[in-house]
Amino acid sequence: MARFILLLVLAVVIARTFWRFFDAIIRAAGGTTSGPQGGGKPVSVKMRQCPVCGTYVVPGKAITLVSGGDPIYFDSEKCRAEYQLR
Ligand SMILES: [Zn+2]
Repeated sequence: MARFILLLVLAVVIARTFWRFFDAIIRAAGGTTSGPQGGGKPVSVKMRQCPVCGTYVVPGKAITLVSGGDPIYFDSEKCRAEYQLR
């Protein structure tokens, strides 16, 4: 009986691993063409444009400058410095 439980647990672990693997493939393959959420972009995170050079950045990874209420997103420290000089 213990052996059966062990096999069952193993089967569940393998199934989960496979599901994650296939899910990653499906996301990688179909994400760029037609995602289930969002307007055609592979990531659901809204991209922000750097006001200096126009590069699109992910808010989580971007360099920010808070002026007034809304934060401004930059792709690099250089762009932020350049923006502040204006
Ligand atoms: Zn920039």
